[in-house]
Amino acid sequence: MMLDYQSLLLALGVSAACLMVTLFGTWVSRRTDSFLLTLVVALCFIVSGIIAYSSYTVATGILRVSIAYAFLMAGFCTTYAASVQFRTGKKPWRLATALTVAAILFGLPLLIAGFDGVGLIVMNILTALLLTGTGWQYWRTRAEAPGPLCGMAVLYVLSGLSFVLCAGVLISDGNWVMGHAPDNWAENLNIGVCIAGMTGIGSLSLALHQWRMAAHHRREAMTDMLTGLLNRRALFEEHGTRRIGPSTAVVVFDIDRFKSINDEHGHAAGDMVLKTFAENLLQGTSHVKTAARLGGEEFALILDNVLPGRAERIANDIARRFAAREILVGECVVMCTVSAGVSTGAAGGQSFETVLGLADGALYEAKRAGRNRVEVAGYLRPVDLSDTRSSA
Ligand code: GH3
Ligand code: MG
Ligand code: MG
Repeated sequence: MMLDYQSLLLALGVSAACLMVTLFGTWVSRRTDSFLLTLVVALCFIVSGIIAYSSYTVATGILRVSIAYAFLMAGFCTTYAASVQFRTGKKPWRLATALTVAAILFGLPLLIAGFDGVGLIVMNILTALLLTGTGWQYWRTRAEAPGPLCGMAVLYVLSGLSFVLCAGVLISDGNWVMGHAPDNWAENLNIGVCIAGMTGIGSLSLALHQWRMAAHHRREAMTDMLTGLLNRRALFEEHGTRRIGPSTAVVVFDIDRFKSINDEHGHAAGDMVLKTFAENLLQGTSHVKTAARLGGEEFALILDNVLPGRAERIANDIARRFAAREILVGECVVMCTVSAGVSTGAAGGQSFETVLGLADGALYEAKRAGRNRVEVAGYLRPVDLSDTRSSA
């Protein structure tokens, strides 16, 4: 063996400390992923545990091995808690503390009673369970970022397995009472696997963080901040290149005399009305494929699998519900109406922009015909025509 056990332990300690600093720096730069901070705390315990264990390999003693045991268990329990935090978003400290206390209560009496071999077997088995559990937590969330998460899961489980080997050798040799640190092939292999695993897990954790950031920015760029609906860009990204057939409808809404709401009640009231309409838009229909804010007080709805006449009915329902809605702004109640234009794709399929333009034209007709109504593109109703004429 080129490297002795001491040097390997030192290498493990140094790589854990470096990883701790890197993760801490990443967390500080943007305090979003708090599971990184939990990992930093875990590594802090693990580095302390490695130092204590290293001193135990040089000069034996119950105190040294007990301190190493407590720190290492705290480290691996916190590592597990960080993975649960990553998956569920819950605060990790209660779980980490509960697991650590349980692990210490379970193993420490054995070490103090002089059964150091049994204590170390317990430590190896608990560590294997915690690392496998950690791998399992990341595996369950792998859909979010398959590459980094699958890699992390595999590395945690492999590291866990190397602890199983350590326990296995101690058990098969019947090392219940030892008086010194174990030194066998499994221990050496374990440290080698842990150095490789730690380095890999460290870089994958950073990759995961980057992945989350990128996804976050992508989502932000696609969302209208006021209403939470998709914005115009997202609408065109999703549907812009589509051919629209007769079973898909595009509905364009524009709130009536919205400017006067701003003028009379203030901009905040206007914003409230926009939010209320956005909520309204999403309610009560299973056909909604996409709801987006096109800008200002204009919204669009893409409806898939609609029979003829259905889109118009849906638009009418939305308009009627919105007109009946009393929007509370401070002390006042604001009520307003909306106009809409509906257009369906042609039999051979039409470009999204064409269908949207036709819906826009129908909306213009609805405005011209007096507002608070729904018009369908290319569909002239005799009643409507006479209405327009008599009111003109
Ligand atoms: P019409 O019935 O013909 O649609 O009249 P309108 O007043 O609704 O239409 P117009 O296009 O003249 O006015 C739209 C107003 O919407 C003008 C603009 O100040 C306001 N607006 C645009 N974006 C926002 C927003 O994010 N919040 C608020 N409060 N107002 C906005
Ligand atoms: Mg308007
Ligand atoms: Mg407008």
